[in-house]
Amino acid sequence: MEHTYKLLCDGFISPEFMRNSHSPWVMGVEHPRTIRLEGMTLRLHDNQPDLPVGVQVQVWLDRYFLCETVEYIEAKAAACAERAAARQAHEDSVRRSATSTYFEPTQALIAGNPTVAALREKLDALYVALEGEERLYHQFWRALDPQNKQKSNDALSVARVINDSIRALSDYVFGQLATQGIKGISSHAVSPHEGARSGLFDPGKDHFKLLTPVAYGKFKRSKGDALCKPYVKFFCLQDNEVHRAVTCCACLDRMLRLLNP
Ligand SMILES: [Zn+2]
Repeated sequence: MEHTYKLLCDGFISPEFMRNSHSPWVMGVEHPRTIRLEGMTLRLHDNQPDLPVGVQVQVWLDRYFLCETVEYIEAKAAACAERAAARQAHEDSVRRSATSTYFEPTQALIAGNPTVAALREKLDALYVALEGEERLYHQFWRALDPQNKQKSNDALSVARVINDSIRALSDYVFGQLATQGIKGISSHAVSPHEGARSGLFDPGKDHFKLLTPVAYGKFKRSKGDALCKPYVKFFCLQDNEVHRAVTCCACLDRMLRLLNP
């Protein structure tokens, strides 16, 4: 029966119970209104329905003594596992769909020796898509309705895939610049406002810090500067020990401008 029964202990808590109070008690019901447990007789509260005689119940102490049929407990666990599996399947499908919409086309573009214009167009489209997902995320992230809350979670998953796509494109350009002799190292700025397009999914950004000076038309930067601004204008710019893709929008924009067509 799908019910959580409240039970009363009329007498003292038995020493046997105190000794074994950590164990879950499972027992067969012999009487519709009472349960014998570790030397105690637990009685159902008057407002509780009768216990089903002959079935197994689990008893535990949580302010009151409570019990549920083992069948009910197992059914709840199965329903919970089913919900978890459905949630996982949904998340997988959202991620798969975002991967085929954003990540795979980005990889295909990179693999095909793209023009600067094509790279820029792709990057702009990714930024627009990212903004859309961020809007959705903000719109629903406080939602109480599970379906709306799910929209927020989905937006976050999609945004992660879009960010991965931007990183893939960024790393491609990073590598191409190195072949042109424009060498850099990715450097992290700790402030969430340093060149950040949004601090929501990735607080702080990774910048392109020059290992060699660059002069291109009016654009000049010294060794140690980031492409987006000179080193002195940063509150803190720390080289990444392990390479991370440049995610600063201004640096990425400049990287594309420096890229030979
Ligand atoms: Zn930057």
